[in-house]
Amino acid sequence: MPVSHSDFAPLADVGLNLHAVLDGAALPVDMAAALRGCLPEGCGGGQIILVGNAGPTLWRSVKAAGLVSDDPIDDFSVNAVVQWFARQFPGRRHQLLYPGDCPLGLQALGRLAGWHHATPFMVGILPQWGSWFGYRVVLWADTDLPVTPPLQAESPCRACAAQPCVAACPAQAMGAGGFALEKCLAWRRQPDSPCRARCLARDACPVGQAQRYDDDHMRHTYEQSLRMIMRHR
Ligand code: SF4
Ligand code: SF4
Repeated sequence: MPVSHSDFAPLADVGLNLHAVLDGAALPVDMAAALRGCLPEGCGGGQIILVGNAGPTLWRSVKAAGLVSDDPIDDFSVNAVVQWFARQFPGRRHQLLYPGDCPLGLQALGRLAGWHHATPFMVGILPQWGSWFGYRVVLWADTDLPVTPPLQAESPCRACAAQPCVAACPAQAMGAGGFALEKCLAWRRQPDSPCRARCLARDACPVGQAQRYDDDHMRHTYEQSLRMIMRHR
């Protein structure tokens, strides 16, 4: 029986408040090939359900849940989405694609959904959320939901002549040649770097400031990424 409706409200209530449904059969060729490699034999087509968080609510829900985990945001988000899916679509086949090893590019999926416009520091930005949103869960599902039209949003960066984010970066990682990742990483690795637990460029962007993540969320996320950077140096 076709599944033609969904209620994303239970996810939005805990801060998983960005949703898009993509047609699995209409993905670009390279993405479709990557997807095929991530699915059990016999699964094809179907839909991609993209779930993100925007603003500070998700982190507050994660803290309230009191999870003891190395990655409480991922664990909370996956649990919430998997349980939501089971309640909404009992018996429907599905497969978690992200978090995980499936090489589907999150920003490429975000572009299809109209969510991704790169800032000079390469994080995505949207007019209503600034850079305070992220990709949390990607699910392949054997559903027949209405496909979400791409979000029609112009990048706020196009009208931002002053670019305070560029000036705020102490590593001067955003020059004429684009974003110099190595400069950023080298700066972040320094023992006393102010960028070990935050990004000063991101903080300097005036767009969506009311949606800014809480300080302890920022610390958690940036310290986690720094541990990965230190492991792979
Ligand atoms: S400060 Fe301006 S250029 Fe930088 S991310 Fe924000 S809107 Fe874009
Ligand atoms: S983390 Fe620091 S060095 Fe890297 S882009 Fe942000 S402000 Fe610049």
